[in-house]
Parts: sequence; structure tokens; C-alpha cells
Amino acid sequence: MRDFDETAEPAGARPDPSADADRFVVQEHHATSLHWDLRLERDGVLVSWAVPKGIPPDPRQNHLAVHTEDHPLEYLDFHGEIPEGSYGAGSMTVWDTGTYETHEWKDNKATVTLHGRRVDGRYALFQTRGNQWMIHRMDPPADPTREEMPTDLRQMQATPGELPDDEDAYGFEVAWSGVRALAFVEGGRIRLVDDDGNEVSGTFPEIRAMGRALGVTQVVLDGVLVATGPDGKPDVERMARRLSAKSDSAVRRLMASVPVMYMPFDVLWLDGHATTDLPYEERRKRLDDLHLDGPSWKVPATHAGQGSALLEAARAQGLRGVVAKRLDSPYRVGETTPDWIEVRA
Ligand code: MN
Repeated sequence: MRDFDETAEPAGARPDPSADADRFVVQEHHATSLHWDLRLERDGVLVSWAVPKGIPPDPRQNHLAVHTEDHPLEYLDFHGEIPEGSYGAGSMTVWDTGTYETHEWKDNKATVTLHGRRVDGRYALFQTRGNQWMIHRMDPPADPTREEMPTDLRQMQATPGELPDDEDAYGFEVAWSGVRALAFVEGGRIRLVDDDGNEVSGTFPEIRAMGRALGVTQVVLDGVLVATGPDGKPDVERMARRLSAKSDSAVRRLMASVPVMYMPFDVLWLDGHATTDLPYEERRKRLDDLHLDGPSWKVPATHAGQGSALLEAARAQGLRGVVAKRLDSPYRVGETTPDWIEVRA
């Protein structure tokens, strides 16, 4: 299945069955479909599973694990590009590595304790049907306070108004014209939900890559989808064209002629914890730490204390206006509040 002449992948010429400690690796594999390859060293090879949603951090959520062919030991530290046309084409990075203990090893079940930097705990792998297995965390959650990601959050809305007198207490952002959308991201998969609670993921397929770029990071973002015109400014008519596409093929055609950017400006949830009670200033730091900068997504700038200057710039550039956000304000889910003020240009 793998053509070793074509790829930089290790071909496995030097298996070393004498090695003492049993080692493991989890590789993040950006192939046609994002998955994590769990490989356990055993009898001179790496017994392997492809796990589409990654190693579960919580015993309440079992994940599918597809049993794949044994790989050579050299894969323990393999990372790099597997070229187009080769099996598993795409980039592969080492997500975690370490040693493991075996408690049980049968044809249809294995129980092991992984000791890695990111994964630490006892796991059961068991066959359900054919090459379909499940992976289950047997230990308590690595983070006992971790909660399940909510699916029904609603956006906080700004109140229309004037620039505040105490500009120093606010961060200012450009008010982008477009489609406001929450992004729910888990296991590299993204769900975009608009103002009215409708899922719009299918209308904006180019944003799926942001989900893959986030890897195992579980996050809910608030942001805006923007279609820009030839002058680089948000263009609501072009956005209307994107929204009018009814079939997948129409969406595909429009993706090329009317590209859309997702601009996340807030974070409501991060890795098992609500961030809505954190002050806006702190949430923006968490957002920056996610390094969201890709071909179809980018975190827009925020300007603390500089409302008048930004409003002037927005006017000069023909933009809609600015939004003033109190630096110390929490994210009030589903509420329209004076903590956010939209000032029209
Ligand atoms: Mn793989």
C-alpha cells in the first residue's frame, strides 16, 4: 500500500526487537481526513490504530479507532510530508510520545497505560467489528473539572450608541459587515452557527480547514464571516451571493469567485472550560494564543483605548463602524448589553 520509493517515510530496514521499554507514539496526520495515529511498539513493530477524533481525555467519551497495518519502528519519531499520490498523503507531526505498560493483550482487546507528555492514563482498545475498534479511557479524566462542550450557546450582541467617554476602559474593533457566526470546534471538526441558530457550515466549506488546523483543541469562537470585494472592503452583496447557493456544486463554484474569511474575535469555551466569565481582555489573550491565521481565517485587530482614531479610520475607509468592548466585561451569552457598543461610521 505504501510506496517507499516515493516518500520520505521510513521503510523499516532496521527493526530492533531487543529494545526494553515499550514505546508509543501518537501522530497527528493531516491526510484526506484528519486523524491521530496511535502506534504501540510490540514484537519489533508498531501496532497501529487511526483515531479520527484523537485520544479521548474523558472516560465518558469513547472514540472510534480503526485498526491499521503494523508500521516499522522508525515511525516512532517520523514527522514530515507524505507526498500527493502516496498512501496517507499529507503532513504528519508527532503529537505525543512516551512509554506504555501492557496489562492485557488479546486479538480483540488491549489494555495499556500510556505515559506521555500529553496523554497519561490507562486505556482499553477493543474490537467492535472487523477493523473497527474503540478506545476508552479507564482512568478518571485527566482534567477532573473538564466539562462537555455546550452546543447551544448564543451570541452576545452590541448596543447601538456613541463612543464612550472613558476610551481607556475599552478595546475597539472594526465592525465588519458580514455573517456573524459561532464556530464550535472539536476533534478537528467545525460547526458554524449563525445569528438565528442555523448551521451554515455547508455554505462555507473553506472554513473547515480552520477546524483541522486547531487539531485536538476544543473551542467555541465568536466571529464574523466576511466576503470582500475587489477593493478589499466587506461587500454585503457578494456575501448575499454566497448565501444564495443552494447546491454543493454551486457552493464550490462560488468559493473560487467569492472567497470568504472567518474573523474570530472572541472565545467562549476552551478545552473543557467556559471562558465566558473571563474579562474580554483575558479572552482576547486566549484567542491570540490559538494562533488562528490561515488562508480563510484570521483574528482581527483590537485597539485598546483608541476608539476615536479607529472610528476616524473606519470613516475614511468606508467601513461600517467600530465596536467598543469593555476590557473588564464578561461574555454575556445571548444578551444585548451596553458592555459592547456599536458606533456607526
Ligand atoms: Mn495515518
